[in-house]
Amino acid sequence: MQNYDLLIERIAKSAGLEKEEVGRRVEAKKAKLSGLISKEGAAQIIAAELGINFEDQDLKISELMSGMKRVNVIGKIINLFPVREYSKNGREGKVANFVIADETGNTRVVLWDVNHIGLIEDGTIKQDDVIEIKNGSTRDNEIHLSGFSELKKSAEVLDSVKSERMVSEESLDKVLQGQSVRIRGVVVQVFQPRFYSVCPECGKKVVSTDEVFNCGEHGVVVPKERAILNFVFDDGTETMRIVMFSDQISCLIPEEDLKDAEKAAAFRDDFLGTEIYLSGNVKRNQLFNNLEIVASGVEKVDVDKLISELDSEK
Ligand SMILES: [Zn+2]
Repeated sequence: MQNYDLLIERIAKSAGLEKEEVGRRVEAKKAKLSGLISKEGAAQIIAAELGINFEDQDLKISELMSGMKRVNVIGKIINLFPVREYSKNGREGKVANFVIADETGNTRVVLWDVNHIGLIEDGTIKQDDVIEIKNGSTRDNEIHLSGFSELKKSAEVLDSVKSERMVSEESLDKVLQGQSVRIRGVVVQVFQPRFYSVCPECGKKVVSTDEVFNCGEHGVVVPKERAILNFVFDDGTETMRIVMFSDQISCLIPEEDLKDAEKAAAFRDDFLGTEIYLSGNVKRNQLFNNLEIVASGVEKVDVDKLISELDSEK
C-alpha cells in the first residue's frame, strides 16, 4: 500500500496533477483492463501515458518496480553474501549479492561488474555501509548493476531502515511445512538420478514380482521408467534437499538422457553451481524427519542473458 501511495504522489508531482486525479485514472485503467493488473501496474501505465519516466530519478526502495532502468537508490547493506564465481558457456566470472534497506523497504542488489565486486572483495564496501547506486536497472524485484552503473559509499546516515524481510522474499531458514515458495539460490550438490517403474496407462507406481510388473488397476503392464533427481540447494541462509520428478526434470534435460551415464554425468557437472529460482512445496521427509522441497519449477538465472541485457542499457 505504501508503495502505491508513494508512486501516486510521485506521478502527481511530476505531472502537475492532484493525487486524487491520478488515483482516479489508475482505477479507470484498472477497470478497463478488467482488473487483470495490479494498482501498481496500472499506475505505471498511467505514468507512461503522462510521459513520465523514472529514469535518472532518486527513488526510495518501495518505489522500485520490475523493468525500471537508470534508477538511483541509497540504502544500507543489511545482508552481504559471499562473492561467487561461476563458469557458464566458456564465460568465467563473478557475481556478488547484497540486500539494501532504506526507511521504506529492502531489496536485493546483484553486482556483475568486476570493479564493483572488487569493492566488496577489498573491504571498501561492507556489511552495514550506506551505499549509493546510480544507473541501476530492476528486474524480478532486484536491482542489477552493470559496468555502466555507479556504486559507491554514501555519506548519508540511515538510522531506521526497514530490515524485516519483505513478504515476497522467502528464505530457506524461514520456510514452513506446507508452504509453497520461490527462492533464489545455488545448486551445491547433485545426486545420481534414481529410477522407478510406473504403469504406462495411469502413471502409478507398479509392483514387480519375478520381472512381471503389475498395476493395481491395469494388471500386467510393460512399465515406463521415471526419474527422480535429488539435489542440495543453498540460498545463503540454509541448505535444503530438493526432490525433482519427471515433469520438472524434462525442463532441464530429456529424461531419457539421464539413463545414459555419460550424458547424466555431464548434466550433473553443468547443473552443479547453477544459480536458479526454485519454486516448490515444502514437505517433511518422513524417513529423515527433515524438511525438503518438492520442485514445481526450476528456472535458471540466465547469466548470459542478464549480461547482454545490461550491456545494451548504456
Ligand atoms: Zn495403471
